Amino acid sequence: MKLFQLINEMFSRELASHGRAFVNYQALSQVEVKDMTIDGFPAKLFFNPARVRSVMADVSPEALQKRACFLCPDGVEENQLTHNWESPTGHTYYIRVNPFPIFSPHFTVSSSVHERQELLPHLEAMLHLAKELPEMTIFYNGPMCGASAPDHMHFQAVPRHSLPIEDHFSTNYANAILVQETDLQSHLAAVKQVLSLGTIPEEASQTGSLTIGASHAEEYEPRWNIVSWYEPEQSTGGTPIYSPQGDLQRSDLQPAGRSYNTIIFFRRESRPMCFFAPEPERILFSPATVEMAGIGIVANRESFDRLTPARLRDIIREVADNPCT
Ligand SMILES: [Zn+2]
Repeated sequence: MKLFQLINEMFSRELASHGRAFVNYQALSQVEVKDMTIDGFPAKLFFNPARVRSVMADVSPEALQKRACFLCPDGVEENQLTHNWESPTGHTYYIRVNPFPIFSPHFTVSSSVHERQELLPHLEAMLHLAKELPEMTIFYNGPMCGASAPDHMHFQAVPRHSLPIEDHFSTNYANAILVQETDLQSHLAAVKQVLSLGTIPEEASQTGSLTIGASHAEEYEPRWNIVSWYEPEQSTGGTPIYSPQGDLQRSDLQPAGRSYNTIIFFRRESRPMCFFAPEPERILFSPATVEMAGIGIVANRESFDRLTPARLRDIIREVADNPCT
């Protein structure tokens, strides 16, 4: 059976047990959405109160030490199911329903070993997963770039086309870099080459980003957010598309091949200044991959109202980095 079918069935089974996941996926239908156009890029803002845990996550070493790891088998909830995925790289990963979803379905893909969040040892597995799961987009949040479990290696998987950047690639919004290749090994090499532009920043940032303070000097990988997906071979004649007039057309412009796609966002800041600002300026916005890719998530009403398109653009500019300049 195909991987997508297996994990989709797991998703249905878990929701049928009417536990935490059921409640939180039901709540997704209540999420308020604001559409924004930022320098021609179609971003969206989601007001999702259930995400407060992720937005406010304390990922200091002290806090991590105090909590049980929720990605290790001992830390999962009673109703939480697991599908073991064996990567051709020899690693095993646990695929589970994300109990605090942004999209539906939304999965976490965590290493079967409790090891720190670090991309390079798992990048090839990420691409294999994208290939085996072409229905989904896979993403990675760096340890200081939105990962709420920086002590346990994990990816996330959401339905394809959930992120505006997949279909409206633009470097304007967050300095994104797109890599496309037809085979896995050359794609892997090309992505690694881009990643090598990233540097581990000098000790202590001069911009006063408070959370970084203690751990900044100890950061072991450059700050980045990564998105990968696999585009299966197009059937001859291109993809059928519907024009706004309603008549079926064949798009012959669809590029053939280019199966592997990865977008890299380099990051300067973990959280924007407005996160630490006093009221009434405070905006509780903690950008991770989803935000860099065009979906802003806030968990309280005040932040939702304060985040205008201009503010969102400025915040993304503040946290994004451009390694080429
Ligand atoms: Zn763990």
